[in-house]
Amino acid sequence: MNEYDSELVRSILKKENYEFVTDELAADIVMLNTCAIREHAHRKVYGRVHSIRHARGKGSPVMIGLLGCMATNLRQDLLEDRSLKIDFIAGPDSYKRLPQLIHEAADEGQKSYDVTLSEFETYSDIFPSAEDRVNPLTTSRVNAWVAVMRGCNNFCTFCVVPYTRGRERSRAPENVIDEVRRLAGEGFKQITLLGQNVNSYRYEDHDFAYLMDEVSKVEGIERIRFTSPHPKDFPDRFLDLMAVNPKICKHIHLPLQAGNDRVLDLMNRTYTKQEFLNLVDKVRAKVPNVALSTDIIVGFPTETDAEFEDTLDVVSKAQFDSAFTFKYSERQGTIASKKYPDDVPDSVKSQRLTSLNKAQKEITYQKNRAHIGQIQTVLLEPYPDSKNPDIMPGRTDGGKLVLLPAGRYQGGDMVKARITDATPHALKGQALP
Ligand code: SF4
Repeated sequence: MNEYDSELVRSILKKENYEFVTDELAADIVMLNTCAIREHAHRKVYGRVHSIRHARGKGSPVMIGLLGCMATNLRQDLLEDRSLKIDFIAGPDSYKRLPQLIHEAADEGQKSYDVTLSEFETYSDIFPSAEDRVNPLTTSRVNAWVAVMRGCNNFCTFCVVPYTRGRERSRAPENVIDEVRRLAGEGFKQITLLGQNVNSYRYEDHDFAYLMDEVSKVEGIERIRFTSPHPKDFPDRFLDLMAVNPKICKHIHLPLQAGNDRVLDLMNRTYTKQEFLNLVDKVRAKVPNVALSTDIIVGFPTETDAEFEDTLDVVSKAQFDSAFTFKYSERQGTIASKKYPDDVPDSVKSQRLTSLNKAQKEITYQKNRAHIGQIQTVLLEPYPDSKNPDIMPGRTDGGKLVLLPAGRYQGGDMVKARITDATPHALKGQALP
């Protein structure tokens, strides 16, 4: 979402005749688009601001602006931190005000900020073009992100998003389709629909299934993905559509977070272990061969060893294709930070993470091995492997990384390949003649 937001920012500022340079040492203004989800991201931003100031030297006129979630969450701390010397701050709903904020900071010498959260802003009227794209995957016209909704109403107790990005609001479908058509016209093959809670999309009578179906009708778009969904919003209608629509990739990210009912309740995830497992069964029954990935947090406050075993049990039963796993870390402003002291020792969190990763790695390996001998359609990533130019990476419909010998094809091609080998991290294949 932040990458997409950076594309919005480029689009907004280009209209005001700002010129973008890739070398931050040559820039008059440096903007960092920040994330408040994890503490690590936080620390990285502080480090980056200091290193930019250091590299530019004392007395440099460079202006630094902070954008995004961290800006909303820590506005006061950031403005008051004299060592950081932030000139302006814009929260996720304030990017249209950036020209004015920059003007106030540059011409009037004030520290300017706007972190107001809006109940309506969806940037519906801004359409980032290929030139506004910032990620190599998007600049090379393979995949484009398109935000369809913003914010979240779920208030998981560990999460800062509802406070930094505000309430859910969805973008009009005709507006989304318009953006997708423009992207198809620019040569993009794959669209990833984005939202903090993407499958709770609703605009008037239109739900997420309707939107996906409409996007799939856009000529030129070959694959559609979406992230991140919540397990509570998978109606049969959506799964049935996914099963029959060849453009909708058969991959669902289904964030589990924890496998124990008491911990899930403390997290306010609104499902039980059994309900989650029932959903996994239903998804697999309706969408055969679907790839499932997940997010898991270990060491949520008061989680016991026995409760963590429930998480391992779900991992064993659900057989996810892959998992993003994290040690719990407290985020300022969340319900958990106010109600539940972070009382699981770091050493215990580390042990749990290690055993979780070990279990998932074996499952991922077996899942990957099951593809050996299959023919898969692979959408090639823009460039050969950065460490080995003889390897061309790509993704299957299920989102698995496939490594092919570089050959007569190029980034963005859809290639039929036979899977010849597998590791826990990737599939290996040979393109068919
Ligand atoms: S659904 Fe996702 S974005 Fe919303 S509060 Fe929960 S973790 Fe955060």
